[in-house]
Amino acid sequence: MNQAILLAVAALGAIGIASAVILYFVAQKFKVIEDPRIDQVNDLLPGANCGGCGFAGCRNFAESIIKAGSLEGMNCPVGGNTVMKQVAAELGWEAAESDPMIAVIRCFGSRTHAPAKLVYDGASSCQFAHSLYNGESGCPNGCIGLADCVNACQFDAMYMDEETGLPVIIEDKCVNCGACVKSCPRKIIEMRKQGPKNRRIYVGCINTEKGVISKKNCEVACIGCGKCVKICKFEAITLEHNLAYIDFGKCTLCRKCVEECPTHSIYEINFSPRKPKQEVEVKEEVGV
Ligand code: SF4
Ligand code: SF4
Repeated sequence: MNQAILLAVAALGAIGIASAVILYFVAQKFKVIEDPRIDQVNDLLPGANCGGCGFAGCRNFAESIIKAGSLEGMNCPVGGNTVMKQVAAELGWEAAESDPMIAVIRCFGSRTHAPAKLVYDGASSCQFAHSLYNGESGCPNGCIGLADCVNACQFDAMYMDEETGLPVIIEDKCVNCGACVKSCPRKIIEMRKQGPKNRRIYVGCINTEKGVISKKNCEVACIGCGKCVKICKFEAITLEHNLAYIDFGKCTLCRKCVEECPTHSIYEINFSPRKPKQEVEVKEEVGV
């Protein structure tokens, strides 16, 4: 009896040892050796895991950098150029700098400018409401105002303005991750260059309907009149499908288009207040 037990234990032990040896060799053969540089890069990234770089989190971004073998087209929006330079130094590669960007809301159809024609009483979700109707103002491209973008921002860089009903970007908190852009079903939010002294000019409307129709729903809608296109000496404005668009790569921030727009749908951000026209004219006359 004892002998049978001993035999069984010995057999099991032998099988166990044989299995361990086989597993060891299999593990050795198929083991994946991770490039230690992945950890080095990952340690330099901010760890926000926001996906703004276009990859599934910071570690995946680090892996993709090493796999690509270059920093061309690689950018961490949260860490910006500072972090990318550190990564470049760590790897001994060339840093690829990118212009700082920021989110802008391209709809200025506030409650005053685009008054509600009906009241929505459904689920509090822009995605959901967008699938049901045009929005309370009737503009099929305007902001729905149910804050999907604000909820998507993990940096608390947005809030809904109760008076206008529109989202607002808190400039010094926005890290340019693009989460709000992805969350908006109307594609109202755009990432644009921060611009010199944080100044930007852009069309605050994305409505592509004919001017007469868009104006019926919102008094600050772009009506596609083309006046801005004509006045811009730098060919920075294009007009397509009844809608003007300002190329921030070409715009010199001269502000001529802002003055020219009859519906005031072009916005200037962070400029000092304009001098009263009369004063400017008098100065020009005396050659100041
Ligand atoms: S506002 Fe928020 S969600 Fe949008 S880009 Fe900036 S940080 Fe990201
Ligand atoms: S910008 Fe887009 S996501 Fe944000 S409140 Fe308006 S419709 Fe909703």
